[in-house]
Amino acid sequence: MPGTLYLVPTPIGNLGDISRRMADTLAQVDFLAVEDTRVTVKLLNHLGLKKPMVTYHRHNATPAGEAILRRLLAGEHCALVTDAGTPAISDPGEELVALCAANGVPVLAIPGPCALVTALSVSGLPTARFTFEGFLPQNKKNRRAHLDSLAGEVRTMLFYEAPHKLSATLSDLAETFGPQRPITLCRELTKLHEEVWRTTLGEAAAHYQSQEPRGEFVLVVEGAPPAVQEADPQAALELVAQLRAEGLSLKEAAAQAAPQFGLKKKQLYDLALGK
Ligand code: SAM
Repeated sequence: MPGTLYLVPTPIGNLGDISRRMADTLAQVDFLAVEDTRVTVKLLNHLGLKKPMVTYHRHNATPAGEAILRRLLAGEHCALVTDAGTPAISDPGEELVALCAANGVPVLAIPGPCALVTALSVSGLPTARFTFEGFLPQNKKNRRAHLDSLAGEVRTMLFYEAPHKLSATLSDLAETFGPQRPITLCRELTKLHEEVWRTTLGEAAAHYQSQEPRGEFVLVVEGAPPAVQEADPQAALELVAQLRAEGLSLKEAAAQAAPQFGLKKKQLYDLALGK
């Protein structure tokens, strides 16, 4: 019987975010697959644990993934941890999970710290529908194409960014979405100098042109306002007829239907009268 691959999130800054289940899982598994042993050893020391570790990162994902799979198939249990936050979210893990799934190895995800969810929840921007964009491409052409593809995005957008690239990214975002577009910059979440700044892209870009950014950032950008439905007089007249059949006066029906079709109520009223 194969062992289980556990996806174990780690704190994104505050050790108080270590959960009982996370600590128990790290203690119980046979070995850990880690992004960087030097980072994980600090966490293990904090928990008073000593565990065998193998590295699993983006430069060795294929050979290391296969070696981990062999051990799982032989019945060992493994916990995958990255330097901070949830594995497989802009971090190593995606390929290993797919490999396990394809080979009948159970994968169990333990919920825990994740910068994007933390930022979205505190952003003050709409949370019902959102798109996580991770890090923007570095290549200029791919980056432009990616931003252009987001130009009409109506959902809240989340981006990860490193401090030394923040200023350029804010300028690119302001250029794409306009300087008035609301943004929430979430800096150093869960840490001592945590900061949440709700502003506009223009203000944020200007601020970080003169101020050196410090720490880690999640950028939460409001989506575009939904496009007003294109004026469609025929559909508007159909709705007016339907509302009239339901007992509304022509004036009431025109007033109710017009905004839904980008028309003025007088305009629709006249149209319905054949003027
Ligand atoms: N897997 C992680 C997660 O679950 O959030 C993300 C890892 S990704 C390599 C690192 C990026 O996450 C940083 O560049 C930053 O954009 C964001 N991040 C991580 N910790 C953060 C924090 N404490 N405050 C703000 N952003 C953070």
